[in-house]
Amino acid sequence: MQNTSPTNADLVSRSLSAVWHPCSQMKHYESFPLVPIARGSGVWLYDFDNKRYLDSVSSWWVNLFGHANPRINAALHDQLDRIEHVMLAGFTHEPVVELSERLRDLAPKGLGHCFYGSDGASATEIALKMSAHYWRNTGNPAKTQFISLQNSYHGETLGALSVTDVALFRDAYGPLIRQQATVVSPDARNAGYGESAEAFALRCADALEAHLQRHHTELAAFIIEPLVQGAAGMAMYHPVYLKRARALCDQYHVHLIADEIAVGMGRTGTMFACEQANPPSPPFYKGRGDSTPITSSPGEVRPDGISPDFLLISKGITGGYLPLSIVMSTDTIYQAFYDDKTVRGFLHSHSYTGNPLACRAALATLDIFQQDDVLTTNRAKAAFLNRIAAPISCHPRVKNWRNTGMIWAFEVESPHQDFAQRCFSLGLQNELLLRPMGQTVYFMPPYVITEEEMQLLVGRTLTIIEALT
Ligand SMILES: *Cc1c(COP(=O)(O)O)cnc(C)c1O
Repeated sequence: MQNTSPTNADLVSRSLSAVWHPCSQMKHYESFPLVPIARGSGVWLYDFDNKRYLDSVSSWWVNLFGHANPRINAALHDQLDRIEHVMLAGFTHEPVVELSERLRDLAPKGLGHCFYGSDGASATEIALKMSAHYWRNTGNPAKTQFISLQNSYHGETLGALSVTDVALFRDAYGPLIRQQATVVSPDARNAGYGESAEAFALRCADALEAHLQRHHTELAAFIIEPLVQGAAGMAMYHPVYLKRARALCDQYHVHLIADEIAVGMGRTGTMFACEQANPPSPPFYKGRGDSTPITSSPGEVRPDGISPDFLLISKGITGGYLPLSIVMSTDTIYQAFYDDKTVRGFLHSHSYTGNPLACRAALATLDIFQQDDVLTTNRAKAAFLNRIAAPISCHPRVKNWRNTGMIWAFEVESPHQDFAQRCFSLGLQNELLLRPMGQTVYFMPPYVITEEEMQLLVGRTLTIIEALT
């Protein structure tokens, strides 16, 4: 350890020589340098020269209540003095018990059992294995296949990639993967001309039904990102699809796995996106060809949502502090494993399963939701951002402005092939961390963002759009 603080340039060059950065072509860092971060506070990240960046993507969608949050920090300090880690096979501890109980109370009805993993991809792996093992234990060993939506993203380990349909992440590893079938995505951007998002979602649900009809005897589960397909480019769809998917999965005896790794923890306006499966009327999202900005009602509580058979939670659960994932399942699934024989049990573990520090960070995060009435506050914040963002949503080069809860996205018609990189670089020059996916720019800020910070985010983004169109 050095006892003097490094310089930006020093840290970057050491990083490039020793660290293999994720999701990157390392050579590109020659032209688009790494950003060294010394510390964070609230929505801001700072480098070693105190230059700041507004973290509008919540550090890859994980941060909820800002960097260096005093309340989460205090909980972690306290936990450090008690127990940092103990194995969860044969042992238990207070944070994991309390977190499981509180999630059981918060989650859609019927999800009473929490199984722990370390990250999102491992949650996907666990759910796939658990689903197939359930069918095996209940006398249906042929049900070993899965389906996901087109452009789905459920993680990048080999099993998770088998239900992931983002070519960039998948193609190089194709020969290693037992690729599963996809069904057409209800992504409202693909609605026919003049077709409502709801009508399109119902049409896509018919395609799902046709697939289930043909293949249900070998299908274990349908895995889906409820309401928003994040890595697809924040593809938003009408909630009626979820309601139909639930009914169809029941009808054809196929599990429904709700991957709420990105959309859970209040991100779509309710604690879990599945709570919004009962569609409001009139439809909240206009089909393509309608230039009316989409202003959904973030957080509008629709009490009759759906309960999936499996609910996957990760990313925001620890407030963005520590890796943790949870697979919640129903009593029916749990009971199918309860037996005298070891081989009928669910045989899966990770070294850090149920880590006490991560669970404690999650409990502190849930406390903040409760103490600050976060879902209500977020509704006002989202309405404010929608109001001030009119110059973006109405911009002639901006298409498909859309919003669900605390997620905003739009496409920019730009002549630049490398739009995403240019936007990222210009963002940094303008104190913003923006990380477009192709032509899609999105905001997914920490919930602690203030009105002043939203003004800055919107104003500077508009400047960047102007520069790139
Ligand atoms: C991020 C994400 C994952 C994978 O989580 P990791 O922690 O990155 O492995 C899975 N599903 C969805 C919907 C995600 O957004």
